Amino acid sequence: MKRDVLNQLIEALTILPGVGKKTAQRMALYLLDKNKDGAMHLATTLKDGLEKIKRCDVCRNLTSEDICNICSNSARDSSLLCVVEHPADVLAIEATGGFKGKYFVLLGKLSPMDGISAEDLGIPRLLEIISSASVQEIILATSSTIEGDATAHYIKEHLDGIKISRISYGVPIGGELEFVDNNTIARAILSRVEM
Ligand SMILES: [Zn+2]
Repeated sequence: MKRDVLNQLIEALTILPGVGKKTAQRMALYLLDKNKDGAMHLATTLKDGLEKIKRCDVCRNLTSEDICNICSNSARDSSLLCVVEHPADVLAIEATGGFKGKYFVLLGKLSPMDGISAEDLGIPRLLEIISSASVQEIILATSSTIEGDATAHYIKEHLDGIKISRISYGVPIGGELEFVDNNTIARAILSRVEM
């Protein structure tokens, strides 16, 4: 049986977070009927992104280069390393404009129940970077969830003789960074507390 292309597009759009069938229908009709140029641009940039964007060799953030713009920027303070869970957290912190250090992106948090180990999060690599580079302070900016806290403590336990701080102020318990506004994140980083 030949499947209808319009229905295929509608179904494909429902993979987006928060997009149900009805919204997908509206999006599909908008793209096909009202904004063909925009739709073509979306299709080509999405394809381009999928082909070119990968993980930074150093910090594991998303980038089209081997080493991302932040890692390769010599104007950034490499003595300050902020550990986050997701690329979205980097975007949120960068949007505040107040952080000039570098990042490490775990791509998740420790969760034995889901089988997510320290290795999956690149923590051995993180410890390697910390011991070999000129890092003087680690800011643990994992979420204030149980797993986020456990991840921060795990990393702390494996580090010795280095200043470690945890963001806390103003980030609500259970809060994921990407849903917290920029001012709150900026404040959370500025008023980080030593662990
Ligand atoms: Zn990087």
